[in-house]
Amino acid sequence: MERSLILLKPDCIRKRLVGTVLERFQKAGFKIVGCKMMTFSKKLLKEHYAHITHEDFFPKLEKFMLSGPVMAIVLEGRNVVRRVRRIVGATDPKKAAKGSIRNDFGRTSMDNICHASDTTENAQIEIKRFFKKSEVYALKK
Ligand code: ADP
Repeated sequence: MERSLILLKPDCIRKRLVGTVLERFQKAGFKIVGCKMMTFSKKLLKEHYAHITHEDFFPKLEKFMLSGPVMAIVLEGRNVVRRVRRIVGATDPKKAAKGSIRNDFGRTSMDNICHASDTTENAQIEIKRFFKKSEVYALKK
């Protein structure tokens, strides 16, 4: 069964949208098989966002991502990576589809509520980055 790594970003936690966002994933049929609240270190953030550390906006993004705790979630289900990316919407909330999480609740291309793995290969790497094997549960139902 496929898995995806979701991060509820500091804006999601501050806006008290954790329940709302998780409800959308659960109502779409996905199971939560891992969950933890945590704070990024600079090192972990650089690793997670290695593909954009060269961007001009990275220092601002770093400040935002370190401004409060995040929630890391492992979701499981059929085609979860692709389907969750659709539920989350495009990076820029203004360009994200109507009814997507980012269009409904995001503010800018930076504080856009949540991260979701973009490929199944990256999902496996990202889950290992945030969770020990024993922290991800094999749930029957
Ligand atoms: P996504 O999160 O949609 O997969 P990216 O991997 O391109 O998008 O970017 C990672 C994160 O970096 C975004 O979710 C967002 O928080 C931040 N980001 C992307 N583009 C910008 C930008 N132009 N300005 C500020 N932050 C950005």
